[in-house]
Amino acid sequence: MTLHQNLINGEWAGGDAIPNINPSNTNDVVGQYARATAEDTLSAIAAAKAAFPAWSRSGILERHAILRKTADEITARKDELGRLLSREEGKTLPEGIGETLRAAQVFDFFAGEVLRLAGEVLPSARPNIGIEITREPVGVVGIITPWNFPIAIPAWKIAPALAYGNTVVFKPAELVPGCSWAIVDILHRAGLPKGVLNLVMGKGSVVGQTILDSADVNAITFTGSVGTGKRVAAASVEHMRKFQLEMGGKNPFVVLDDADLNVAVEAAVNSGFFSTGQRCTASSRIIVTEGIHDRFVAAMTERLKSVVVDDALKAGTHIGPVVDASQLKQDEDYIAIGQKEGAKLAFGGERLTRDNPGFYLQPTLFTEATNQMRISREEIFGPVASVIRVRDYDEALHTANDTPFGLSSGIATTSLKYATHFKRNAEAGMVMVNLPTAGVDFHVPFGGRKGSSYGPREQGKYAAEFYTILKTAYTLA
Ligand code: NAD
Repeated sequence: MTLHQNLINGEWAGGDAIPNINPSNTNDVVGQYARATAEDTLSAIAAAKAAFPAWSRSGILERHAILRKTADEITARKDELGRLLSREEGKTLPEGIGETLRAAQVFDFFAGEVLRLAGEVLPSARPNIGIEITREPVGVVGIITPWNFPIAIPAWKIAPALAYGNTVVFKPAELVPGCSWAIVDILHRAGLPKGVLNLVMGKGSVVGQTILDSADVNAITFTGSVGTGKRVAAASVEHMRKFQLEMGGKNPFVVLDDADLNVAVEAAVNSGFFSTGQRCTASSRIIVTEGIHDRFVAAMTERLKSVVVDDALKAGTHIGPVVDASQLKQDEDYIAIGQKEGAKLAFGGERLTRDNPGFYLQPTLFTEATNQMRISREEIFGPVASVIRVRDYDEALHTANDTPFGLSSGIATTSLKYATHFKRNAEAGMVMVNLPTAGVDFHVPFGGRKGSSYGPREQGKYAAEFYTILKTAYTLA
C-alpha cells in the first residue's frame, strides 16, 4: 500500500507510518500515512521561515493562479475526494462530496481575494503629511485542525494563509490525514514554491506541541477541543504571537409554540444528528415551550424511526458511524450519565450491528432533561440530543444563553417579533431562524463567543484580520 509522506521544504519525506482506518468498516485500511517527528516539524518550520520573504512579496497573479488551479482540481475530483472523506471520517457520501465542494469554493473565494487586496490612503491631522494603511502577512502560520471536517477546515485556513502571503506549517488531525494529504499534494503540484506549505502529519503531543513551542511560528490558527485550545493559547501568550481558536459548542435550538412543526422537526433532526452529531455547530439542546412540547416530541421520535444508520458509502444512509472507538465510548458514557441524572431516554441509545464491523450508534434523544444536567452542559460530540421543556419565550432565551459556549444558536418560530428579538439577544456568533444550527456559507464570517472561540473570525473577507497585520505609514509630502 502506498505510503503517504509528509511534505517538508518541497520534498515528500518520512518513514514511520500508521494506517488510516475506515470507521464504517474497520477491516478497510484507507491508506498508510507517515508520522512526523519533532525534528521533522522543526525542519518544516525552518523551511516555512526561509520561504517567507520571497512568498510574502510574490506577485498577486502567481498566488491567484495557484489557488484557482487548486479550486478547479478539487472540483474536478469531488466524487473521488468526497469518497475518501466519507471513508476516513464516516460522514455520508453526499455530505463528503458536499464538504469537498465547499473546500473548492473556499480556494476559489481566496483566489479572488488575492486580486482585491487593498489599503487606505488618508490625510494626516498634521499639514503636508500623508498616511497609508496597508495589510502585511504575519509570517509563518501554524495550522492545527480537528478530525470532523477533514477537508473544509484545512481549506478555510490554508487558502487565506497563502492568499495573504504567509507560509504554512500544517498539522492535520491524526484520524483523518487522507484529505489533508490530497489538498497539499494538489497545492504542491499547482506550483507552490518549496517551503511555502509544509505538511506534518502525526501526533498532537509531538507535532502539534513542537509547533506550539517554536519561537519561529508567528501565528497559530487552531480548531479542536477546549482543552487543546487552552494549551495553544498559553503557549502563544508565552511567545507573544497571534492566535485564533475555534472550539466546542453546546448549541441550543429553541422551538416555540407558534413554530411550523415540520420545519422545527427537520431542523432539529439535522442539527442534532446529521454528520453523526459530530459538528461543532450541532445542536444537542432542544429547548421547547410547553404548548408544543408533547406534539414536538411525538413528531421527533416518529421522524427518528425513519433515519437510516449504516455504512457512510452506502446509498440511502442518513447517518454514518461514530468516528472511532474512543468517541463511541464517550457517547455511550454520556448516554449512561443522562439516564443516571434522570433524563428520559425517548429514542435510541443502543449500538447497532451492520454488515461490516464499525462504530454504529442509534440517534439518541433524551426528554425531560434540565439545563443543569451534564448532558446539557458538556459537549458530547455524538448523535445524542436532549429536549428541555420551558414555559415561554423568555425562559427559552435564558436557557439558550445559559451555557459556557456560544457558537451557533437556532430558533423555530413563525413570529417576527420573537425571531427579531432572538437574533439580537442570542449570545452566539451565529444565529439561525427556522434553519438548523449547522450549515453555514463560505463567504461570511464563521465563529463564536464565550468558550467556543477566541480571536478574529474565520472565512470570508474577515479572515484578513487574522492572516495580516496592519501597518500605518506617514510620509512628509
Ligand atoms: P482535539 O483538540 O483533540 O484535536 C485538535 C487538533 O489538535 C488535532 O490535530 C490534534 O492532534 C491537535 N493536538 C492535540 N494535542 C495537541 C498539543 N498538545 N499541541 C498541539 N496540538 C495538539 O480536537 P478533536 O477531537 O480533533 O476535534 C473535536 C473538537 O473540535 C470538538 O470539541 C469540536 O467542537 C471542535 N470543533 C470546533 C469547530 C469550530 O469551528 N468551533 C469546528 C470543528 C470542530
